[in-house]
Amino acid sequence: MSQDTAVALLARMKAGETTSEEIVSALLDRAEKTRRLNVFVHLDGDHIRAQAREVDRRRKAGEPLGPLAGVPVAIKDVLCVDGEPTTCGSRMLRTFRPPYDATAISRLRAAGAILFGKTNMDEFAMGSSTENSAYGPTLNPWDEARVPGGSSGGSAAAVAASLAPLALGTDTGGSIRQPAAVCGIVGLKPTYGRVSRYGLIAFASSLDQIGPFAHDLADTALLLGVISGRDPNDSTSVETPVPDYAATLDTPPEKLRIGIVREFFGEGLDPEVAAAVQEAVKVYEKAGATIKEVSLPHSKYGVPAYYIVAPAECSSNLARYDGTTYGHRAEDWSPKFPGEDQIAPLVRMMMVSRSEGFGAEVKRRIMLGTFALSAGYADQYYNKALQVRRKIRGDFDAAFREVDVLLGPTSPTPAFRLGERTANPLAMYLSDIYTITANLAGIPGISIPCGLTKANLPIGLQLLAAPFAEDTLLRTARVFERATDWHTRRPGVQG
Ligand code: GLN
Repeated sequence: MSQDTAVALLARMKAGETTSEEIVSALLDRAEKTRRLNVFVHLDGDHIRAQAREVDRRRKAGEPLGPLAGVPVAIKDVLCVDGEPTTCGSRMLRTFRPPYDATAISRLRAAGAILFGKTNMDEFAMGSSTENSAYGPTLNPWDEARVPGGSSGGSAAAVAASLAPLALGTDTGGSIRQPAAVCGIVGLKPTYGRVSRYGLIAFASSLDQIGPFAHDLADTALLLGVISGRDPNDSTSVETPVPDYAATLDTPPEKLRIGIVREFFGEGLDPEVAAAVQEAVKVYEKAGATIKEVSLPHSKYGVPAYYIVAPAECSSNLARYDGTTYGHRAEDWSPKFPGEDQIAPLVRMMMVSRSEGFGAEVKRRIMLGTFALSAGYADQYYNKALQVRRKIRGDFDAAFREVDVLLGPTSPTPAFRLGERTANPLAMYLSDIYTITANLAGIPGISIPCGLTKANLPIGLQLLAAPFAEDTLLRTARVFERATDWHTRRPGVQG
């Protein structure tokens, strides 16, 4: 039962074959037996069972039920859930319990979903391996010596290991698509503005988006439909109507014009990943697609531009964690070094609280961002990066005049070993070389399973579409899903 999709579980509950309480009990049992994977940072069994019983009661009483009634959804620990721990993978927020729900969470509640725990993540969503969590790394269910990707590694591993059929993650530079790829599941980053960011603890506000993880596209479409839409609490969320993604999923796009991105097949691409993506192209050719090579000439500047824009925004967003209002406050901020007694006690308190509360990668980003924004450098770095960002968007606009969907690998390599890239930030940053440009341009992207390496590690296929063309993205992905069975593969997790 734990391997079922959300759609299958909904059908079984409707048919009276099982209850939400039975489902969550089985999953909680499985979570207990697979604790070594370190998927959850918070999992309150009693609270989860109570939510499930309430849905079961409503079903029995014939009360109206939402589209996700009784279905467990694991939540990345960057999303505020009223009264529950929300740590962001950081020591800074170890004891923080928000007084309100993120909009994505209230929409899940309204749809009848069961909030199934908070999942591990890189601290403040900065990373590609979930190793930057203050609560230890998450293990990849396909190979426990490897990372699940990041920063939404806990959410991806939760779905891959069948600990929840659905999960929410966030994607600022690839943090939904890359972990989905290396965990062998589907992950979708919506268009910037499609899903409200209210209650999402900000990393880089102009790039962050919340999106779904699932085993297949029907489940992805269902969850995306629930969380999408305008929200008065987020002025960047848009009025654009939300199509019924699930209803149109099985209607193939009228024109299947696919662009192969030349720049996504360069140096650093693992040969097995390249081969699997080439095979995927053949599947589309067989399905009657018009395939064309396209170029995104500025994509080579994606990583450098991102590592100015994202740290600049993060240095501003993370300024609020200073030990005064909420978050970690140092116990001792007495002067320790010569000259420190010259610093005002309040400032010392903030300095020591921030030094203790943040991990190394977060500190690196704050320093990078502060530098890039500083007087005399902002034009050279930050404003230059914004110009590059505009060019990258221009490349996509030009490409989408010729084709409907762009295709390439999601991650240049399959899951790497724990510890392999922790000492080399640049190697870690390059994990997102194919995903980052979509965030800079604000366009939607999806990763779907498209193969396994000889060592049995999942490979992800990335598809990108024009702003608000999530339906095209899903329907195009569905053409591949129908022709292959990669989405049915599950890791053999002991537990
Ligand atoms: N890996 C990228 C980073 O470290 C992207 C993270 C994300 O999408 N949240 O910034």
